[in-house]
Amino acid sequence: MTTHVKPPHLESSAPAGTAPEPRDSKLINRIGRTYRFESAHHLPLLPDGHKCKNVHGHNYRVEVVMSGALDARGFVMDFAEIDAEILPLIRKVDHRLLNDVEGLENPTAEIIATWFLQRITGCESVRVYENDDCWAEVRIA
Ligand SMILES: [Zn+2]
Repeated sequence: MTTHVKPPHLESSAPAGTAPEPRDSKLINRIGRTYRFESAHHLPLLPDGHKCKNVHGHNYRVEVVMSGALDARGFVMDFAEIDAEILPLIRKVDHRLLNDVEGLENPTAEIIATWFLQRITGCESVRVYENDDCWAEVRIA
């Protein structure tokens, strides 16, 4: 004889046919936005012969995650407010030699991600893609 046990994700303390009450947990909301820029760089700390020591370019993608409690509007942050903070930063790096930008003298993807994170209010994490396959991420510990 087989006994039927509900999988844990289907168990509920609510009577059959009623929706469970919303949980009273403390919630963290996260939102994200993606930006792109195109720039050249070289990595001066690499040994001679490493291809990334030569000046070359990337089509960078930057994914920014903001987190926090919801405000009176029901937002973590208005996407237009995020743009207002981040687009000036994008303008500083777009179509530039990144090594010439203050704070990006050794512009690895990790350092670029950190450069953005440290300049964006309320930012939880930043992920920088150098191409479709390679990324670096930094987050608030
Ligand atoms: Zn590169």
